[in-house]
Amino acid sequence: MTHIRISSSSAVGERERPEAATITRRAALLRVVTLPLAAVISAELVACSKQPQCTDVSGLSPDDARLRTEIAAYVEQSPDPAKLCAGCMHFTSAGDKACGSCKVVKGPINPGGTCKLFAAKQG
Ligand code: SF4
Repeated sequence: MTHIRISSSSAVGERERPEAATITRRAALLRVVTLPLAAVISAELVACSKQPQCTDVSGLSPDDARLRTEIAAYVEQSPDPAKLCAGCMHFTSAGDKACGSCKVVKGPINPGGTCKLFAAKQG
């Protein structure tokens, strides 16, 4: 097996250190190929998992804010996949990964959220 010597020194004028790591050509090629690939895959996973944050209630009146949090008990992520805002008759979608709105609960509504006033869409 062919071994190549790769020095960890990179600064101009720095002398090669005798303790520099020795790795195989195969290992060096694997690193060259897998590092950019891992970066691309990580970026794609982050983009795919990105859910809207529908938590800005700064424009709500105190009564609307109370209805949202105390009476309806709206939450951003439903613990029950059968009771998502996206499947509620009161929900109006604004797109797949965007906050929608609700006819009952004011403020931005996460399609993956839910509340006590959930009513399944018919049909
Ligand atoms: S009523 Fe509740 S579950 Fe239905 S869309 Fe509005 S916030 Fe979501």
